[in-house]
Amino acid sequence: MPSVSLHWFINDLRLADNPALCRAAMADRLICLYVIDPRWFRPGRQQLPSMGEKRRTFLLQSLADLDRRLRALGQQLLVLEGHPESLIPELVRRYRVNRLTVNEVCTVNEYRTLASIDNACHALVVDTFAGNQLLSSRYRGHREFPLGFSQFRKQVEPLECRPIMAAPPSLPATPLPRTQPVSLASPGSGAFAGGETFAQVQLGKVFDGMLPRRYKSNRDALDQWDGSTKLSPWLALGCISPVQVWWRLLHWQDTHGFCESSYWVGFELLWREFFHHLAREQGTTLFRFGGMRNKRPLTSFYPSRFKAWCEGSTPEPLVNAIMKQLRCSGFISNRARQIAASYLVNELAVDWRYGAAWFEYQLIDYDAAVNWGNWQYIAGVGVDPRGGRRFNMDIQRARFDPDGEYVARWSGRVGIAGERPVEAIAHDYVGWP
Ligand SMILES: Cc1cc2nc3c(=O)[nH]c(=O)nc-3n(C[C@H](O)[C@H](O)[C@H](O)COP(=O)(O)OP(=O)(O)OC[C@H]3O[C@@H](n4cnc5c(N)ncnc54)[C@H](O)[C@@H]3O)c2cc1C
Repeated sequence: MPSVSLHWFINDLRLADNPALCRAAMADRLICLYVIDPRWFRPGRQQLPSMGEKRRTFLLQSLADLDRRLRALGQQLLVLEGHPESLIPELVRRYRVNRLTVNEVCTVNEYRTLASIDNACHALVVDTFAGNQLLSSRYRGHREFPLGFSQFRKQVEPLECRPIMAAPPSLPATPLPRTQPVSLASPGSGAFAGGETFAQVQLGKVFDGMLPRRYKSNRDALDQWDGSTKLSPWLALGCISPVQVWWRLLHWQDTHGFCESSYWVGFELLWREFFHHLAREQGTTLFRFGGMRNKRPLTSFYPSRFKAWCEGSTPEPLVNAIMKQLRCSGFISNRARQIAASYLVNELAVDWRYGAAWFEYQLIDYDAAVNWGNWQYIAGVGVDPRGGRRFNMDIQRARFDPDGEYVARWSGRVGIAGERPVEAIAHDYVGWP
């Protein structure tokens, strides 16, 4: 009997450096699947949907790109809408699939879904691979997971990152009938375009130039396109792997010489890595009010304060500008995220989970482990040894927007045609593609 594999693309929408896909490619027949779950668009955590319009567009672009690449290898992407825990067992039965391959997931809902598929299909081999992190979850053997970033960093920095895996040169045929190419509901616009192709373009822009040399001093800028790598949306969906970024960074350092600033790019990738491993340790406590430490923050849900924060109509102009930029572009810098999060939790005394859920809904680079982990950190219920972060707004304004340019731009007061709504400004100011 021919072997049939099903590769379920989750957060690994790429062909290159995809260990699970390489394993799937060893079968006689292969189904390449992506599942769009309708629950993402319905009210969920904190009564907000998980996926907003901007991320949906980015996702659809990424799927179309992946499908194009698969077709070039004689394959196709099957995109289904529904619940993976029902759809996948159905496909397994119908096409006599004997192996399911996935790249490791790290949040509780994802591995519960995987466990439920495993339980429903007795003869199915479920193979997971460390494709979305620098290190496999098995890197530390039986050692305890360090609950602080510094300990984690010291533990993993001496380890060697695995080599990049080439994309499979060819793929087995699909047992399914030929389908139409995946097309976009909306082509999208703006700085970010989804897909492995554009991820590679952005990777080239970052590491063919001198961005790493200036990274440490620029990464906190509120609104500077080349202040940081801007790779997060592609990393979040796996259009590019952290291993690919890591090796490009090492290559840059070999070519241009190691400097402290370039070290910080790797340092931030290790934060991502840390939150991914931590999320796996945390399970449901990642989304719990008391967080990892089961604390009782002195915050609550105040609908009018939360609404003002989301809309950008609080008493703090800097926060308002940040929240408007988020709504318009789906992306804000790391510093902007910290300022907005600190303001919600510390000044408005709103339950941090509402802020995390709003970011989940709005960000195009939403990554469950990183988003909820960072929110816990700022709210003082996560891994921060200092027990939370409170940002002084006067200091933040003086340091990061001394001339009030950022606030003016995102209040709709600066634009090519004078006074205009902020939505119109999102894509036409200097510095962003
Ligand atoms: C409250 C809050 C929520 C956040 N939510 C998300 C999220 O949903 N998705 C997401 O990818 N990042 C999130 N971050 C982390 C960070 O803000 C973004 O990764 C970063 O701004 C993306 O821009 P960049 O790709 O230019 O990052 P760079 O500065 O160029 O960093 C390179 C990569 O390192 C990783 N990284 C950078 N900063 C952090 C960080 N603080 N924690 C963990 N990893 C980091 C990212 O993968 C990033 O792409 C959040 C931060 C905060 C404070």
